[in-house]
Amino acid sequence: MLPTLLALLLQASPPATQAETPVLALVGATAFDGTGGPPIPDATVLVAGSRLRAVGPRGEVDVPAGAQVEEVAGKFVLPGLIDGHVHFFQSGGLYARPDFLEVPDHPYAKTVASIREKPAPYLTSYLRAGVTSVVDVGGFSWIFDLRDRSEDDPGSPRIAASGPLLGTYVAPKLQIDGEPIWDLRDEAAGRALVERLAPRKPDLVKIWFVVRQADGFEASRKAVAAAIEAAHGKGLRVGVHATELETARAAVSAGADVLVHSVDDRPVDEAFLNLCRERKVLYCPTIVVSESYRRVARGEWTADAFDRAASPEGEADTFERWKALKPEEIRGWAQQMTRARDRLPLLQANLLAVHEAGITVAAATDAGNTGTLHGASMHRELALMVGAGLTPAEALVCATRNGAILMKREKDLGTLEPGKLADLVVLDGDPLADVSNTKRIRLVLKGGKVVHRAP
Ligand SMILES: [Zn+2]
Repeated sequence: MLPTLLALLLQASPPATQAETPVLALVGATAFDGTGGPPIPDATVLVAGSRLRAVGPRGEVDVPAGAQVEEVAGKFVLPGLIDGHVHFFQSGGLYARPDFLEVPDHPYAKTVASIREKPAPYLTSYLRAGVTSVVDVGGFSWIFDLRDRSEDDPGSPRIAASGPLLGTYVAPKLQIDGEPIWDLRDEAAGRALVERLAPRKPDLVKIWFVVRQADGFEASRKAVAAAIEAAHGKGLRVGVHATELETARAAVSAGADVLVHSVDDRPVDEAFLNLCRERKVLYCPTIVVSESYRRVARGEWTADAFDRAASPEGEADTFERWKALKPEEIRGWAQQMTRARDRLPLLQANLLAVHEAGITVAAATDAGNTGTLHGASMHRELALMVGAGLTPAEALVCATRNGAILMKREKDLGTLEPGKLADLVVLDGDPLADVSNTKRIRLVLKGGKVVHRAP
């Protein structure tokens, strides 16, 4: 009897190749593939296992027998979004930054520990926001563990990470056991810190180039330059926080590969634009983080239904507390921000100048900072980029293809092309007509698996 039973079992099994590679066909949506071409109406997107097999007009893509077909007529499909600047050690809520605001009943160390112990809400917020990859640009060493687990985890976006920041300034209130900032005090430190960081295989070395004394610029510049040279010697790229035009210029001259923020003190000039273009620098605007700090400090911060749904539960509610703070509790940086000038027009003008100069812009938020919620903030950033004068299509390329360039993963991510990983978002509205339609998320796939579906 045994051979017969075995034969029956074998017969009942589907052919091996079909069992190994399930095929999903998304049929009928308009596809924005991120390659720069026009959107494809009534498209078929064929996903085989974790990768895209075909993307094209319905009539040109054959759906194999046995494929699972999902009708998405009237909807819009685009590559998964990529946020080029986040920090998982920060909550995005009111208690994220003790150097901004300190509230005794919500100590910073406890906020950090709770994220480390239970990162899931912070990770899944990205998937609910249609963000399938992020770059963590500085934090505690434990980010490398999150990164290493992220690739195949259906509860996490793909993570590229810097690990500890090399800072020309060490913010004492942020430090716990010597992290997240390593003291980049001079050139020798620059070389030694890169040596120490390299074994963790950072995807990008992050330098915090903050000049605290007027006479300290040249010493800081030399330390930054030494760290960049050491990193390049190990084949590592470097992202620099340099928000004034002169520090940004010095960072790029010293070899910075990525500017992780906008220039926010004055308009960028021709010489700077030419330098960035020649050096093929990537520019990450992070406009939303400046906006958010100012809005928090002025009591103007609000969250809509999408912000609440696509961010870690409870973080948006922490801002209710602001109204109850006594005036003497708002000190230092928070107090300065209550009367800070509105830099939005300058940030937007600089973004447009950089973009029009042909410099590659990667969309990024600085999520985790106070008021910049994980996940949801990407959609505020996209709206601010369009407000700056980019078309929705251009802003979406910054948030997809250019994000993949930032991650150095253009071969796998960033566009809807055969062979790439099937990270994609299906929307209920056309984001090219109105960029706020990126918030109307129906379905999110990462590596061919459904990781979020609207209820
Ligand atoms: Zn940052």
